[in-house]
Amino acid sequence: MIIDRRSRLERFYQEHNLDAILFTNILNVRYLSGFSGSEAMLVTAADSACWLLCDSRYTIQAEAETSHVEVIQFVERNSALAMLFAERGLRRIGVESTHMTVAAFNAVASALQGCELVPVGDELDQIRAVKDQTEIGMLELVARLASDALLSVLSQFKVGMTEARLAMELEIEMLRRGAQGKAFDFIVASGERGAMPHGRASDKRIMSGELLTIDFGAVLDGYHSDETVTFSIGAPDNRCREIHAVVKEAHDLAVAAARPGMTCRQLDAVARDYIRNSGYGEFFGHGLGHGVGLEIHEKPTVSPRSDIVLQEGMVFTIEPGIYIPGVGGVRIEDTVCLTSNGCRLLTSVPKELTVL
Ligand code: ZN
Ligand code: ZN
Repeated sequence: MIIDRRSRLERFYQEHNLDAILFTNILNVRYLSGFSGSEAMLVTAADSACWLLCDSRYTIQAEAETSHVEVIQFVERNSALAMLFAERGLRRIGVESTHMTVAAFNAVASALQGCELVPVGDELDQIRAVKDQTEIGMLELVARLASDALLSVLSQFKVGMTEARLAMELEIEMLRRGAQGKAFDFIVASGERGAMPHGRASDKRIMSGELLTIDFGAVLDGYHSDETVTFSIGAPDNRCREIHAVVKEAHDLAVAAARPGMTCRQLDAVARDYIRNSGYGEFFGHGLGHGVGLEIHEKPTVSPRSDIVLQEGMVFTIEPGIYIPGVGGVRIEDTVCLTSNGCRLLTSVPKELTVL
């Protein structure tokens, strides 16, 4: 459970010779303590003691949501930190260097006389990359909710509907099914707009003869889902059919290849090489995927520049695409959970080219 997550920090205490780590990234605070409010700090000590510092708005919530954590209510945050560290004799304090601003670092440093702040690099960002069973269960639930919501909305689809209307109907359906909200502004891009990988839903009407890309996700208990489907409105022409077939095969090859022990770069190459060999390499500019969890984009980054080694329990997307300016685009995205010898899809809308 949550207390086990804190054992992932042991190597950081050792490698950096730390007495404690100060967490200010609220998502890491949530991950390590269970506190779901929007503002607090967490201090974890090498001897496994743990304190959550918050102001009076959050004390009751923090007491209710956390366990094996001492809640400290503060009036002025940095003096509360200084008092805690002095009382407990904690001197070398790790901080999240990829999250803390220079201003916050300087303010904390000047308040903590006698302590040394040690920037801990981006490896700290990876503590949430391998999901535990509770998280995998949540990610599965939210992925299913979002997939089902899309299928339900599509059954009402009519040619001539605007992209924005479709996006709104999808959001409402997710909320109706119990989602807290949408994971991001949905991408609904039809016709030539499909050439924009991140083309947000517009007032454009979705017309016959076009491809329609929908990239969508929901949030449930803080966990996100992410999925993309490209449909054909009416019968697709040969070029649309070909582009879709290439992206689908690249996606399928990557899903089949994913396993623990390979690097993210190697997995990215499986899809990228296939698209390049099919003659569309210049039209696939982004990375193959990204981790999904308490954030919509988190570690591991699956790209040609990522050396991260895939491990069982990682949850990430596989989302190759081809985007041709003036023509349109296709992206196919599933969120997968890495198992001991492969991966399992969490998202469930069929990815064959479906005609609406
Ligand atoms: Zn997406
Ligand atoms: Zn994605």
